[in-house]
Amino acid sequence: MWTRRAKFCLLCATPLELRPVEGRERLACPAERCQFVLYENPASAAAAVVRDAEGRVLLIRRRIEPYRGAWALPAGYQEADERPEDTLVREVFEETGMTIEVDRLFDYLFIPDDHRKPANVAVYLCRPIRGELRAGHDAAEAGWFHLDALPDEIGFDNQRLILSRLPRVPSAPEAP
Ligand SMILES: [Zn+2]
Repeated sequence: MWTRRAKFCLLCATPLELRPVEGRERLACPAERCQFVLYENPASAAAAVVRDAEGRVLLIRRRIEPYRGAWALPAGYQEADERPEDTLVREVFEETGMTIEVDRLFDYLFIPDDHRKPANVAVYLCRPIRGELRAGHDAAEAGWFHLDALPDEIGFDNQRLILSRLPRVPSAPEAP
């Protein structure tokens, strides 16, 4: 994990030392008045299962690692001042040009196989509201796929799991 490569305290720039803190070896600041500890926590991310009226799901082909070149759900890291739903509205627009409405939480996954940082990913069911499909940001391509005609190469095992668990036809929006 990238945090293992940190050399200096983020608060006072003293060289960090490995020492046992709360039952684990952690990088910690030895300065008497600082005592900063670099905890290694997963990042927070959100992923969108956007389905249109035909039940097709919106996927992007990844331009960056991990799974560069593979198809995946639009997703991104949560900024510190964002709700995960807001992360998705922003990321899906950046990656696909589509404006979406977030419906409800579908799943919560731990993704350990990201070389940058493991992440907890909140997965939401979403609906497209408007927009014209175009790939942008970290996406090389964006496209709508029927569940029985998904691309062969889908990044992150968990995403295949998600797609296999989706109902063939999306549930109708609840009546007001
Ligand atoms: Zn320090």
